[in-house]
Amino acid sequence: MSVYRARWVLPISAPPMENGWVSCHQGMITSLGQGSVAEEIIDLGNVAIIPGLINAHTHLEFSNLGSPLDAGAGRFADWIQAVLDYRASSEIGTGVIASGLAQSSASGVGAIGEISTFDASNELASEYQESVEELVVYRESIGLSKIRVAELLEQAETHINAAQSKKWHAGLSPHAPYTVHGDLLSGLCSLSAAHQVPLAMHLAETLEEIELLEMGTGPLRELLQRLDVWDVVGIQSPGSIQAYLEELSKCWRAAIIHGNYLVADHQSFIGQHRDVMSVVFCPRTHSYFGHSEYPLEKMLAANVRVALGTDSRASNPDLSMITELGFVAEEFPNVSAEQLLVSATYAGAYALGLEQLVGAIAVGASSRLLTVPCGDATLDNVYQQVLENLNEFSHLRCDQM
Ligand SMILES: [Zn+2]
Repeated sequence: MSVYRARWVLPISAPPMENGWVSCHQGMITSLGQGSVAEEIIDLGNVAIIPGLINAHTHLEFSNLGSPLDAGAGRFADWIQAVLDYRASSEIGTGVIASGLAQSSASGVGAIGEISTFDASNELASEYQESVEELVVYRESIGLSKIRVAELLEQAETHINAAQSKKWHAGLSPHAPYTVHGDLLSGLCSLSAAHQVPLAMHLAETLEEIELLEMGTGPLRELLQRLDVWDVVGIQSPGSIQAYLEELSKCWRAAIIHGNYLVADHQSFIGQHRDVMSVVFCPRTHSYFGHSEYPLEKMLAANVRVALGTDSRASNPDLSMITELGFVAEEFPNVSAEQLLVSATYAGAYALGLEQLVGAIAVGASSRLLTVPCGDATLDNVYQQVLENLNEFSHLRCDQM
């Protein structure tokens, strides 16, 4: 057993502990406390020990992109086309997933919510095994046509079973309202509940999506028609953001990715279902598409669990959660440093269904932690100091020192 002492321990799920200590054994936290301790300690000095960050939404298959794909004058449908073209060009080479995992770890990320477009048997999926951190691999399901529903649900179930022999955790991901038949969505929500696996869905992301749902028109319809997959029955069932939220509330865990255009009624519904539902805000991707201001403060006021994600390098220049946090702190000066750290740790872990394991310093959780210089921090400003100094973090692998 190893015991580490630091000027501050920030458990996140409990108040900050000055002169705190954490004891670890075989990769797990066995106890924590404040003040003196009987065992021999390793003194880390004037730092704060915090949990690893959680990137609750990304697509690692784009991790080798030098810069985001062109959003074509801000039109989301054009960006989707660019994503499809990039995939078809087969520029996604081996090593891309491993590279994305390494980039994440370099920015202090201890767990990732990854959307995967390939089966567990695919060569690229073997790179998920190289992860030394916690990883939820959400298998993406795309199918507007009713005749594909059974086949796609079988694929999702195969994915859940495959995870039992892997280092990663299974998740499910109906892609978005404009690509998923209503029956496929409800089937995936049932699988989430039956197997207790988390689900993630892009929802209320763009005005183009809202237009498609409400009017059945616009650039996304044109895109789907060009791709010859337009299926009006699939789009209308269900047909409003609220109907999607009600379906998602039947999951074991449901992460609503983006939620840029969720309105007050949606926010209060999600807040009331916070045991199941979370929202994942991707700040720099939100900015990349030039959306109207994100309703972050309103969501928090409605008791919504807001996690943070980088999204992929198709819409963000890098996978750094630290840069993401700095960006959101600047954009929302009224949101406290404590809240931002909760969003970047515990809220993300909860969305992923991994809150027992990561996202907080607690007995039974992973002992892979971070240390951050904390200057002369006091109880009043320790979260702020940690947020400001986050780019000077070090990994603390408790059992490996
Ligand atoms: Zn995404």
